[in-house]
Amino acid sequence: MSKALNECLTPQLDALHEQGLYNIIDAVEGPNGAKIKIKGQTLINLSSNNYLGFSNDSRLKEKCIEATKKYGVGAGAVRTINGTMTIHDELEKRIADFKHTEAAIAFQSGFNCNMGAISAVMTKKDAIISDELNHASIIDGCRLSGAKVIRVRHQDMDHLRETAKEATESGQYEKVMYITDGVFSMDGDVAKLPEIVKIAEEFDLITYVDDAHGSGVMGNGAGTVKHFGLADRIDFQIGTLSKAIGVVGGYVAGSQKLIDWLKVRARPFLFSTSLTPGSAAACIEAFNIMEQNPETIEQLWNNGTYLKNGLKNLGFNIGHSETPITPCIIGDENLTQKFSRRLLEEGIYAKSIVFPTVPKGTGRVRNMPTAAHTSEMLDEVLAVYERVGKELGVI
Ligand SMILES: *Cc1c(COP(=O)(O)O)cnc(C)c1O
Repeated sequence: MSKALNECLTPQLDALHEQGLYNIIDAVEGPNGAKIKIKGQTLINLSSNNYLGFSNDSRLKEKCIEATKKYGVGAGAVRTINGTMTIHDELEKRIADFKHTEAAIAFQSGFNCNMGAISAVMTKKDAIISDELNHASIIDGCRLSGAKVIRVRHQDMDHLRETAKEATESGQYEKVMYITDGVFSMDGDVAKLPEIVKIAEEFDLITYVDDAHGSGVMGNGAGTVKHFGLADRIDFQIGTLSKAIGVVGGYVAGSQKLIDWLKVRARPFLFSTSLTPGSAAACIEAFNIMEQNPETIEQLWNNGTYLKNGLKNLGFNIGHSETPITPCIIGDENLTQKFSRRLLEEGIYAKSIVFPTVPKGTGRVRNMPTAAHTSEMLDEVLAVYERVGKELGVI
């Protein structure tokens, strides 16, 4: 290793280890499902975004294998050279159809999608108003665009209105965008889209909703924008194919004109090899299943409600989630980590989330129930929470 690199890494790694902050990554020994196996221990899994249990669904696996046999394992090129296969076009049509938009464009991940889509439209002559709790990929995508980023307080509509007025009336910017998560993954709260659309229309803001945690969950699976009936009033609807859809990839759904532009300007689309054909085929199957089996989404919501009510009745603080995401707010950072460790010893995999990911003093164990959890599993979870909660004096 070069001396320069060694001198850069060694003190920083040492410091992380000393402070106990070095994240040790556990490998899962098998598929990601309602139960997972780590180091031989079988655990009830409350930490994945696999909301509908699709990541190991046999129907998706079949389609993936079928497409792999037909098209091969890799696309062989970027989309704009000859890495667009008929299965990619099919996927984009399926997404647009599902989202009720004119068109859609697929990326290799949700992260990539935000990198590509924001900077394809916004430039250093523009401003982006961004909710302070937006996802890291939105923050990075905004930075990459070179636009002036103006952070607004989380879901504070007065602050948004004031900021939108100031930014547009200043005459400093060619255009102004408002960008928000559709569902915020730390608290499970939903963007106030009806109010946002009103403010956006008053000040002619471009609207961008990243619905990674809303797709497959809200609006019968079509997302938060559909939930509020606003499909024709939001410019960019972002989704991921790696959470509820269970595979990998991301997309923008919107007007034909927007998608035409992204297909010639979004850099990950132009300069990074396409989604594997097997992934594209599995995603199409996921949309089909979602449409034909609305009871799967209903099961997800029922499980969320069951877990929330159970924890609340035990006396836990579960915040103000409006989705199946169920935070259990412990408060103190050390206690939160201890709580999560004890859950693990008792067979429950639920991650602690503490400062700086969430504000100081609001440390939490975040629970992500899915449609695949059975009521026996959820009862076991509640029994363990009760035991550990009493043991650690949280309830
Ligand atoms: C998870 C997430 C992403 C990233 O999606 P991937 O497909 O995993 O890359 C982007 N935006 C938001 C809001 C997310 O929650």
